[in-house]
Amino acid sequence: ESTTFAVRVAPLGSTGQVLVLAEDQTERRRVEAVRRDFVANVSHELKTPVGALSLLAETIQDAADDHEAVTRFAGRMQHEAARLTYLVQDLITLSRIQGGETVPTPGPVPIDEAVHEAIDRCNTKASAKDITLVAGGAEGLKIWGDDELLVTALRNLIDNAVAYSPEHTRVVVSARPAGRSVEVSVSDQGIGIPESAQERIFERFFRVDAARSRATGGTGLGLAIVKHVAVAHGGEVTVWSKEGSGSTFTLRLPAFGGTAVAEPRTTSPL
Ligand code: ADP
Repeated sequence: ESTTFAVRVAPLGSTGQVLVLAEDQTERRRVEAVRRDFVANVSHELKTPVGALSLLAETIQDAADDHEAVTRFAGRMQHEAARLTYLVQDLITLSRIQGGETVPTPGPVPIDEAVHEAIDRCNTKASAKDITLVAGGAEGLKIWGDDELLVTALRNLIDNAVAYSPEHTRVVVSARPAGRSVEVSVSDQGIGIPESAQERIFERFFRVDAARSRATGGTGLGLAIVKHVAVAHGGEVTVWSKEGSGSTFTLRLPAFGGTAVAEPRTTSPL
């Protein structure tokens, strides 16, 4: 990796001396490159369903007399439109939390309610694959944070667990107190993640297997959202996984009541 410096030289009044300013721009360059990549990725991800939609619309025009074909292509248009909707929704969510990296209106959030709401929203997909969603350990535990963001993060983790698991398996969502934090984990018996990819899966649009991810309807933004939800709460998300046996994602978030810690101070202690 190269390091970039911006150097400025300015005369110091009429002293005959000069001031030399060297600014390390490596980080700024890196941030710019990440941003450029992101825009390129978003454009690419948007182009694919939009291209498919216009092609399908053309095909329908050509096949106007063929009722069966029109119905079939209209169904595929709906599918592509849904993909576009998910992508835009995820982009909005991501830009909302990424901005300040703080939780806008934190409060005490009962974990069991958030877990149940997240499970409810994933139930249809899970039952389609005969995957049992099990919850446990969350009773009485509360975090200090944003209930909607917590449900969003859990839903993304459970959605993935279901998407990357074979039929007739179990996904377990469990919570436990951990000092000043609460840990919520989502475990599956799915395909697992190769060790070399485990660090990168939280990057926006990174996929271990692009074809499989698209087939499952994934936007490639789910884990980036989970990570930013964790960071905005001052917490973290970690992964344990073994290829062929399954994965466990653990969200560690600041505790409220119920565990060792009281409400964080909102005013300065001084
Ligand atoms: P996607 O929309 O592709 O699922 P995510 O950001 O949610 O995007 O996940 C990134 C990648 O991490 C996925 O494409 C997949 O390869 C991998 N992944 C995420 N969760 C799991 C899991 N529970 N089991 C196996 N692989 C997973």
